Amino acid sequence: MNRPVSYACDPAQRYCECGRCALPPAPNIDLDAVAKLNRATTATAMCLILIALVLSVFAVGLWRTEQVHKAIVAERNV
Ligand SMILES: [Zn+2]
Repeated sequence: MNRPVSYACDPAQRYCECGRCALPPAPNIDLDAVAKLNRATTATAMCLILIALVLSVFAVGLWRTEQVHKAIVAERNV
């Protein structure tokens, strides 16, 4: 008994009245949303890690420059 006319089912729109239609897009969209969220979270984490790395390198560079500057000043004072 397959009477698709008696129900206004539209699997393409993930709409089903009979409750027997196979609606593959729904779980896929959920998975896509989760994947997008994971991707966004991963991208944000990678961005933060990169910023932290750049900042740490910059801070180390500044520290070394300061040490060199101190050494030069100490040398001049002596
Ligand atoms: Zn249906």
